[in-house]
Amino acid sequence: MADHFSLRLADSRMLAPSVRHMAFERADGTPFAFIPGQFVQVHFHYADGKPTKRSYSVATIGAGDSSPVQRVEMAVSYVDGGAATALLGNLETGQTIEASGPYGRFCLMDPDANRRYLLVATGTGVTPYRSMLPQLKVLMAARDVDVALVYGARNEDELLYGAEFEAFANENPRFQFHACLSRTPRAQPRPHDRSGHVQVALADLKPEPEHDIAYLCGNPNMVDEAFALLKDAGLPIPHIRREKYISSR
Ligand SMILES: Cc1cc2nc3c(=O)[nH]c(=O)nc-3n(C[C@H](O)[C@H](O)[C@H](O)COP(=O)(O)OP(=O)(O)OC[C@H]3O[C@@H](n4cnc5c(N)ncnc54)[C@H](O)[C@@H]3O)c2cc1C
Repeated sequence: MADHFSLRLADSRMLAPSVRHMAFERADGTPFAFIPGQFVQVHFHYADGKPTKRSYSVATIGAGDSSPVQRVEMAVSYVDGGAATALLGNLETGQTIEASGPYGRFCLMDPDANRRYLLVATGTGVTPYRSMLPQLKVLMAARDVDVALVYGARNEDELLYGAEFEAFANENPRFQFHACLSRTPRAQPRPHDRSGHVQVALADLKPEPEHDIAYLCGNPNMVDEAFALLKDAGLPIPHIRREKYISSR
């Protein structure tokens, strides 16, 4: 059930030249209950007073169960001339914004019995997977599921939370992190790095209709192309779950 609340900026840092990690707390001090993969909406007004809103996936790493979290974290990508970009890009620690949520069904599902998750993202589309890490850890241990995170960025500087995903992969052998760099390879390439777009790496992973469930998140063109690739590989449509980052203005 979605709730309306004020969020106060507690902390922030730049993740990439134009992406800001923002950690909020509810101004009323209430913990925030969400399912990893869900998003919040930020409500604000244009200069002419017209109300509008934008969606942001929750990036918070919780306990791995459904217990509420203290912080609502998100990665905000700056868009030239963007209205929410102006609001969130200039927000200072201690200032508040209006928000509602959680929303969305881009979540891991309990009765799934797949052998592998293919988690595909570009840009800030990787944030839902960050919040899913504790759940994935439980699933990998409970039913030996493998996870391949296929994450596309232009270069190393734009790999959001790259060190965190790499550390998680080192601790969890069933989790593979494929950084797909479309323009410049890393100064020190890792064994699972790929060059080119995520679609190429996804095809290399040989999607299996019997065993795979895929999640696609981020740039709408990437989501459409990866969806077509997986559908052509025979994955049933309910096993290809999508979240497109389109502007909701
Ligand atoms: C379910 C969902 C979850 C989302 N989660 C996130 C998230 O976690 N992090 C995040 O940064 N964004 C996320 N988005 C996108 C976000 O809601 C905004 O659309 C985005 O931040 C741009 O808002 P803005 O007000 O700054 O730009 P707007 O004022 O909406 O757009 C300004 C101009 O830029 C263009 N534009 C808008 N978005 C883009 C883009 N991505 N790339 C290039 N041009 C663009 C518009 O067409 C317009 O011309 C999500 C969207 C959805 C639907």
